[in-house]
Amino acid sequence: MNPPLPSPALRPSACPGLLRIVQAADGGICRIKLNGGSISAAQAVAVADAAQRFAGGVIEATNRANLQIRGIRGEHRPLIESLLAAGLGPRSAAGDDVRNLMLSPAAGVDRQMRVDTRPLAARLLATLEGEARLHDLSAKFAVQLDGGEALAMLEHPHDLWLSAFECDGQWRWAFGLAGCPTDHPAAAVPLEHGHALVVAVLELFLELARPEQTRMRHVLAERSLSSLLAALAERVPLHGVEHWQRSPAPSGLHIGCYPQRQDGLVHVGAVPPLGRLKASMLLGAARLSEDYGDASLRLTPWQSLLLPNIAQAEAPALSQRLHDLGFILSTDQALAHVVACTGSAGCAKGLADTKGDGQRLAAWLQVHGGPCQVHLSGCLRSCAAAHTAPVTLLAVSPGHYDVYFRDAGHAGFGALRARNLTIDAVGALLDAHPRSPLDA
Ligand code: SF4
Repeated sequence: MNPPLPSPALRPSACPGLLRIVQAADGGICRIKLNGGSISAAQAVAVADAAQRFAGGVIEATNRANLQIRGIRGEHRPLIESLLAAGLGPRSAAGDDVRNLMLSPAAGVDRQMRVDTRPLAARLLATLEGEARLHDLSAKFAVQLDGGEALAMLEHPHDLWLSAFECDGQWRWAFGLAGCPTDHPAAAVPLEHGHALVVAVLELFLELARPEQTRMRHVLAERSLSSLLAALAERVPLHGVEHWQRSPAPSGLHIGCYPQRQDGLVHVGAVPPLGRLKASMLLGAARLSEDYGDASLRLTPWQSLLLPNIAQAEAPALSQRLHDLGFILSTDQALAHVVACTGSAGCAKGLADTKGDGQRLAAWLQVHGGPCQVHLSGCLRSCAAAHTAPVTLLAVSPGHYDVYFRDAGHAGFGALRARNLTIDAVGALLDAHPRSPLDA
């Protein structure tokens, strides 16, 4: 049964949700949180249809592997009802905000995978949506499950992360708070205690956090990690982790065709330019997943799509058809490595047209220095990237940006390299810089 439509009981928040459409300069935004980034072809068709009928036809892939419809006009109810009818809603209205569970887009099919995270993810999502006491979590509080896949976003900080590893012939979840799986783990639990661990961490957080402390890092700013672990150990038996740390994942595996652990099958990653899909692109990708795959799609934290379970022999034909729809399928394309927030074209806080400038910069890089990972942000909020990109352009006025290079010695965007540059000047700066630290 579908949850009720928005009511006064739906808590206030600045974050869009499926039931809470938030106004932006270009109209309403509806964010559709997907279970582990997965969406069926039929559901994707419903999203594309809703975007065409009730909005401007623009759909965004988010850096949390969700979808959002922008530019919603007039009455919200028909759009929400169409999405609920497609099974995209939460099990309860209050559970919509807390569906923040990140998996590898290749969970269950990745060749390097150690543990299939999907069964635990399904159980955790049911708990998050069903347990009223967990609905006090912030809409941004997020958990990551890492099954050891090669295709994994390991740079986005999460309030809690779990990463599978083998110890003395037994599989365990290493975990950490307010960080990334490549950090040194805080402790570990046996695989079968993964659900109990997550619930214990969430409950402990809610007990300790004051109302204004919405993220784990806020609690850790006032309490030691050891005190939190001691409190956790009273609820779940914990093990130390002496000699294991998650290796960094290679970059670029979300673009193009890669073999799966299942013989003869591949997954194909397709990047919509700057994370934006026309309704026709999502509709086309959904139809292609029916024709070539298993009628399912996955969203990735790189703001792109992945089509799993494609017969290897058919991958070239599928890739060509995705290319014809407007997707990028090659790491050689500079535009595949540029991310940009909505910017001034759709956000009142934006100081520059980041999407338009991102297109221009990518065209420049394609001809000159070649691809590198660049993030354009219209203001300090950094909506398009949850991690620090090798290069960040922070808008200061229309067409002008401060330029930061990622630097371990500098928090935030990194070290400031230049102020108030035009896009052409940014291109020249990147061209003159040694490529390796900036490489895509
Ligand atoms: S980063 Fe700033 S300008 Fe860009 S979408 Fe977010 S709030 Fe708007």
